[in-house]
Amino acid sequence: MGLFSGLEKFGLKNLDETEIYEKQKEVISPTVEIVTQEKKEEDFVINRRYTCPVCGIEFVTRSVKVSGVRANERDTDLRPVFDVFDALKYDAISCDKCGYSAINRYFKSVTSKQASLIKENVGRSFKGLDNNLLIYSYDDAILRHKLALVCSIVKKAKNSEKAYTCLKYAWVLRGKRLSLDIRDAANHDMIKELYVDEMDCLKNAYEGFEAAMSKENYPIAGMDEITLKYFMADTARKLKKFDVAMKFTGDIITNKATPARIKDEALKEKELIKEDMKKLQNKN
Ligand SMILES: [Zn+2]
Repeated sequence: MGLFSGLEKFGLKNLDETEIYEKQKEVISPTVEIVTQEKKEEDFVINRRYTCPVCGIEFVTRSVKVSGVRANERDTDLRPVFDVFDALKYDAISCDKCGYSAINRYFKSVTSKQASLIKENVGRSFKGLDNNLLIYSYDDAILRHKLALVCSIVKKAKNSEKAYTCLKYAWVLRGKRLSLDIRDAANHDMIKELYVDEMDCLKNAYEGFEAAMSKENYPIAGMDEITLKYFMADTARKLKKFDVAMKFTGDIITNKATPARIKDEALKEKELIKEDMKKLQNKN
């Protein structure tokens, strides 16, 4: 599919060749998992009013109630798994008039120069978007995350913002993939495509955070050093960068400031890395 596919109908063209950090793509073989069902999502979603920092027009969009949902568990890369519905779908906000989009935590932080870049490169050709929805499907969410990624590139955002946008996009792609029934053969191609796009996003998130770690101060995208290193270790493992993954987990385990709970998680991560290394050796 490609990370920017489907944006042509919103007036955004020639994005297929867009590189987030000007690096090569890498494809990793897919794996699949099984489904959870959404229930009563509309009870947890409300209208929220924003003033667009680019076009200045007020708009209303759907948003999760602050005290609405709780994550019962987390994936190994810290993606929260919610009990009733996937609240991550609502993290990207889009102005339906000019197309400016961003992950919630970055939505308001736009300089006047960045606003001009968005107006010129997104707003001028943008054909509008339907924000009048009761709840977001995964495709509604994916569209908003795609736009957020395009806008982060266009406004020349910091590496951390681009990386965090890629991470959130990856998590929504994973949410959609896990919502599809693997037992239905009609879903197999879609599941594979979503996995490839998710890994592409994770790789871009990894590279952006790697650059941010050497240039920016903590917290980076709201994460302290230990949390970010934990994410990097897990993602390096998925990208088969086992030496780096081991180094990050080692840093966490030996750091005296690491809370005991996170040290335990890092020890589990170390085992996962060893298992994946073994699996790869057996394959070769
Ligand atoms: Zn706008």
